Amino acid sequence: MNTIIQKVEKEHPDETVLKQAGEILKSGGLVAFPTETVYGLGGDGLNARSSEKIYAAKGRPSDNPLIIHISDMESLDRIVSYVPEKARKLAEKYWPGPLTMIFQKSEEVPLETTGGLDSVAVRMPSHKTARMLIRYGGGYVAAPSANTSGRPSPTKASHVIEDLNGKVEMILDGGEVGIGLESTIVDFTEEIPVILRPGYINQEMLEEVLGQVRMDKGLLITDTGIRPKAPGMKYRHYAPKAQLTIIEGNTEAVVQEINRRCQDGEAAGLRAGVIGTDETVSAYHAQVVKSIGTRQDEESIARHLFGILREFDEEKVDMIFSESFETPRMGQAIMNRLLKAAGHHIIKV
Ligand code: AMP
Ligand code: MG
Repeated sequence: MNTIIQKVEKEHPDETVLKQAGEILKSGGLVAFPTETVYGLGGDGLNARSSEKIYAAKGRPSDNPLIIHISDMESLDRIVSYVPEKARKLAEKYWPGPLTMIFQKSEEVPLETTGGLDSVAVRMPSHKTARMLIRYGGGYVAAPSANTSGRPSPTKASHVIEDLNGKVEMILDGGEVGIGLESTIVDFTEEIPVILRPGYINQEMLEEVLGQVRMDKGLLITDTGIRPKAPGMKYRHYAPKAQLTIIEGNTEAVVQEINRRCQDGEAAGLRAGVIGTDETVSAYHAQVVKSIGTRQDEESIARHLFGILREFDEEKVDMIFSESFETPRMGQAIMNRLLKAAGHHIIKV
């Protein structure tokens, strides 16, 4: 398939391009597009065939449900059977934005879109291009992240092109995304709302609106038989080709331990890479050293995480060591992704 790649202005997306993209969606095709979190791979969420195409293009297991993106509150009632009052309050505060909510689905949503579940995940993005695409595309855009299953989520159009060129009808290139981590997912099908995936909107922000909020047990406990409730969270994810190890502790001890391990690796003929920060990169001695951002601005760390994991694949390193990023506001979301990428390989010093 010949993929059309179109640049779009972040603040003033071209109506003609977005109309064309919308037509592709309405006729059952796929369009990758920027959002404020990561790039999404969109299809018509009410069309079972489109959802099947999304799974095929990504190589995604078909029991891993998609998120339906809407552009206004009026669209919600058609796809869900019931919206609890608390969820309405949360929507008022954080929609449009990086928040996904899970509800019981209505008959209109095909099981192909929800991976066979009787619940549906819904998000209303704030990104202009995403919102116009949803409106021109029929109002219900099912979209997982626009990466090959298992790879880091795309934060730039070049990442999407790497993974999906030739497999989808169109890729909208809106430059680099703002947040860089996928949306926070909150499940409202239980009495007490449950966080199924941490994101930019953290537990404290949710509790301010909702009162009590639980964290899914499958997220907190690793290496046990407890399965996370969001099917997607159980899969190996984001993993770079080389083994990634997180080294946690005070800065000085971490730098020393990483340098020692890189030296040992090098002596054994291996190529080592390091993920540090602006504050520490000059202290590392390894073949490839990259800064993920600055600890003065934790959002810079979140924004660059997936991109840096992809860059290391191109560097052809054999081993990667990363600092730990338990930052105050987004630490939980960042570490959730980094730990997955590392297969929970973490060493405390
Ligand atoms: P992605 O958009 O690629 O980040 O994937 C969507 C995420 O939402 C995956 O982790 C899914 O498992 C999760 N998800 C989507 N729908 C549901 C649902 N109905 N119940 C629980 N998790 C869901
Ligand atoms: Mg994904």
